[in-house]
Amino acid sequence: MVNITIRGLSFGYRSRRILKDLNLIVEDSEILGLVGPNGSGKTTLIKCMDRILKPAGSIILDGQDIKDISQRELARQMGYVPQSSPAPPNITVFDSILMGRRPHLGWRVSENDLDKVVEVMEMLHIEDFAMKDFSELSGGQRQKVLIARALAQEPSVLLLDEPTSNLDMKHQLEVMETIRSLVLARGISAVMAIHDLNLACRFVDKLAILKDGTIHAAGEPSSLLTEETIRSVYGVEAVVMGHMDRPYVVPLRSLNEGLVCE
Ligand code: ADP
Repeated sequence: MVNITIRGLSFGYRSRRILKDLNLIVEDSEILGLVGPNGSGKTTLIKCMDRILKPAGSIILDGQDIKDISQRELARQMGYVPQSSPAPPNITVFDSILMGRRPHLGWRVSENDLDKVVEVMEMLHIEDFAMKDFSELSGGQRQKVLIARALAQEPSVLLLDEPTSNLDMKHQLEVMETIRSLVLARGISAVMAIHDLNLACRFVDKLAILKDGTIHAAGEPSSLLTEETIRSVYGVEAVVMGHMDRPYVVPLRSLNEGLVCE
């Protein structure tokens, strides 16, 4: 069980400031959804959390700043699922998921490691293409394999960058249900950048809405997602309805402040 505290996090690419003094807390057994328009900084924040990027400020994982955690230990703790990944040549799906076990491996692969790979493949229903070459998979199949690789790693924190962007409705639900049940069963936490507000609201515990590299608002989806918020953050007129205590957003039209429509 871990919790993450982000304090005063700022980051810029070269001289351009992107993330500006962010503060966030993610509890264990919790999924935090990062939403916000394109370019608002979601991917950058996830990369800072996985220490791919080196921000100012602190990211505290269970009382310890991630700057002070060894690379191997951090790899055990954080499972990162990128938006996409280049296909390495001649590697099967099975082997690419097994790579997720690397932070745990001794000098040889154990029965336990192999069992973990089979377990996550069954969880995500991808066992049928276990021996296929990763480079031959569709975008959606690749996305599931990348998720399976992170799950096989058994991290305390899952960092997911738009994990459902290439998936159809059924596979989106399957992936979100799997993540939801793992977070609860293992008491881990997950931070997920996600565009689909309705899917997010169904499965996350908390949302953080990013706008221009700052946290515009954070909290429970039902109190956060109002028509006014959608308008000011996305520039979209929308209707927000409720279903089983969760908000559902129906976008109506984009608002262009400078344009006068007769
Ligand atoms: P989001 O995930 O919310 O779409 P990103 O974190 O990808 O946003 O991008 C935030 C901002 O950082 C954007 O303006 C983007 O152009 C810029 N950015 C992202 N990656 C790089 C990079 N490698 N070099 C320079 N600027 C970048």
